Amino acid sequence: MVFSIQGNNGSYKSERDSLAQIMDLNHRDISYAKQVHSDDVSRIINSGFAGEYDGLITNIPNRILSIQVADCVPIFLYDVESHVIGLVHTGWRGTSKKIVRRAVKSMNDWFQSKPQNLEAYLGPSINACCYEVGEEVADLFSGNSVIKKGSDNYFLDLVLANKHQLLYSGIRSENIKEADECTCCSSTNFHSYRRDGKKAGRMICFFHLNNS
Ligand SMILES: [Zn+2]
Repeated sequence: MVFSIQGNNGSYKSERDSLAQIMDLNHRDISYAKQVHSDDVSRIINSGFAGEYDGLITNIPNRILSIQVADCVPIFLYDVESHVIGLVHTGWRGTSKKIVRRAVKSMNDWFQSKPQNLEAYLGPSINACCYEVGEEVADLFSGNSVIKKGSDNYFLDLVLANKHQLLYSGIRSENIKEADECTCCSSTNFHSYRRDGKKAGRMICFFHLNNS
C-alpha cells in the first residue's frame, strides 16, 4: 500500500508516472479512470485507462490501481485471504450513493471475497471540522455523520459515513483503519480543494499486490 503526494490539475499522467518511478514501479502497470463521483466500480484486468469509474478492483498481481484525491476519501480494501484489492474515491456524492458498499459487494460477486476477510484503510480526507455543507447535502445523510451547529450550519463527517457503510457491509470494526488527519486544516501539507479551490493539487494513491 502506498500513499504519496504529487500533483497539479490535468490528466495526472505525468504525476502518476513520476510517482511510479520514485516507487521503482513500472508505469505501464498502472490502471486509472476518469473520476466522475459515481458509484460505478470496474473489474480491472488491463492497465491504462479504464473508463469513467470511482472504484477499481483487481486480483492481478502487480496491477497498480490509481486514483487521485483532494479532500475526498480514498478507501483501500484488501482481501487478506483471496488477495483481491479495491481502491475507491468517494466524496459526498459517492458516499451518498454508497459506493464503498458497492465495491465490497463487487469484490464478493467477482472474487468471492468475504467481508470478514477484508481490511479497509481510509486515507487522509477532509474532516467534519472543515466540511460545512448545504442543507440539501446534509439531508442525504442520516445519523451522526452530520453535525449541526447553530440554526442552519451543517458539517459532514465523510469518514464516519463511510465507516458506517463498511460496517454495514460486514467488515469487522477492528479491520477498519483511518488516517485521522484533515486534509484541509492539518499541519501536514495535504492538497485540499476546500482550502485551495481550483488551484488545488491532488494526492495520487497507488494500491497494488506485490508479487515478490
Ligand atoms: Zn479540518
